[in-house]
Amino acid sequence: MFKRLILLLTYFLPLTAPMYGQDELLINLRNHVTTLASDSFSGRGFGFPEKQMAVDYITSQYRRAGFSEINNNYVQEFFHFSGSSLIDGKNIIGLIEGSDPVLKKEYIIVGAHYDHLGWKIWGGAKTVYNGADDNASGVATIIETGKILLNRKERLKRSVLIIAFDGEEAGLIGSSAFAENLKTDSLKIKAMFSLDMVGMFGKNMGIDLNGFSSIKNGDKIVSEIARHDGIPVVTYDRRIESRTDTWSFGKINIPAFYITTGLLSPFHKPEDDSNLLDYEGMAKVVTLLSDIVTDMGNMDTIEANEHFIKKSVDPLVLTGLTFGAGTNHLTYKGIFYSAKPVIAIETGITSQIKLASNLYFQPALFYEMTGSNTEDGKIRMHSVSPRFDFLISTPADDLSKPIIFALLGGFLRYNFAVTGKGSPMSQLYSDKDAGIELGAGERYMKLQMSLVFKYGLKNISTLMNSESYNRGLSFQITKFF
Ligand SMILES: [Zn+2]
Repeated sequence: MFKRLILLLTYFLPLTAPMYGQDELLINLRNHVTTLASDSFSGRGFGFPEKQMAVDYITSQYRRAGFSEINNNYVQEFFHFSGSSLIDGKNIIGLIEGSDPVLKKEYIIVGAHYDHLGWKIWGGAKTVYNGADDNASGVATIIETGKILLNRKERLKRSVLIIAFDGEEAGLIGSSAFAENLKTDSLKIKAMFSLDMVGMFGKNMGIDLNGFSSIKNGDKIVSEIARHDGIPVVTYDRRIESRTDTWSFGKINIPAFYITTGLLSPFHKPEDDSNLLDYEGMAKVVTLLSDIVTDMGNMDTIEANEHFIKKSVDPLVLTGLTFGAGTNHLTYKGIFYSAKPVIAIETGITSQIKLASNLYFQPALFYEMTGSNTEDGKIRMHSVSPRFDFLISTPADDLSKPIIFALLGGFLRYNFAVTGKGSPMSQLYSDKDAGIELGAGERYMKLQMSLVFKYGLKNISTLMNSESYNRGLSFQITKFF
């Protein structure tokens, strides 16, 4: 009975308090951030020589914490070609070995990227992008979480890898390199956490969580622990986040969770400094993270919700907002006179439905302002325009792969208002129009750009013996949600 009580106590005690004092935790968090985000570290840019200072600092902290090395080294090196130069990247990995002889062969990654944007010369002076929130805050958090997990080692059945990833800002390069190696290393990674920008807890009034639906019961587990720790969850997104290292794992079917306090710091600006961060809030993140990892480290099985991962990584339907600008003019048939173009704009909602790895159907609904400079003056047409296009693209299995595409389809147009300064012509146009669209473009992650030629096929002149057609060219940017 007594033994059972002790066991129960050792299970629940650390859930409420770390093994070392809260004061020490706060001091450590502040020290990590002020060091990594100091000017002398020069913004830890991927491919910048000064980044080695961050590598040295993080490895020394791993050593002090007592994390184990893999292959006698904390540093996993990789190489990356950028233009004509070869960049030598470094992920920094510390191991906390699980206590169960079988389950210790399964791993949970607790990761945060340590690189930032480096420095630039502005007006003759060196401007350093210190990246305190992005992402010295995440690195500080994973180091301190690792220490707590090491203290709970006896009852942590699975192994944990504490990883400071390199090259995130340059396109998730360090985490992709690590995930790439997994295929040959056959490490069984059951789940991955990415801490990216966790220094604005107070301002955000809590924490944002993504991706917990990628394991079975994940939503339930995390909401219970957050409630237990008294941590408000401000936004909760079931999908795996695509803008940070979680994506490198999600896309190879590894459940991946993103923990952040949002984009509230001076994001990617030189002002992202250590004095702006909420260290008490970061301590709360450490508590939450160590409790979630402890729980997952002890579950009998961690089952990936593969259906959900697939849906997150490669959504069948994307919807977004489009803005376009270009030129437009009327062409007249059988008349020597040709109207001159005017600037045209358009905005609308675009959906994209994946039909095959290289084929998409793209319906859209736009408001459009077109027009023309005619011999009677400038006319403007305001229209509502439904569109139905097909995109034939280079193949892609998920959103992280850029695609280029050709676009082919048609549009309808209802001209609800035609205005022209003193032009009798403005009364002479039909309110209905239709035509074909031809274009080309590219999409990367959730941003799409295209150049589209809109070729009106319907005569919109209501004058006898006169034919005019609306033609335009538009550069469109679509941001999918
Ligand atoms: Zn970041």
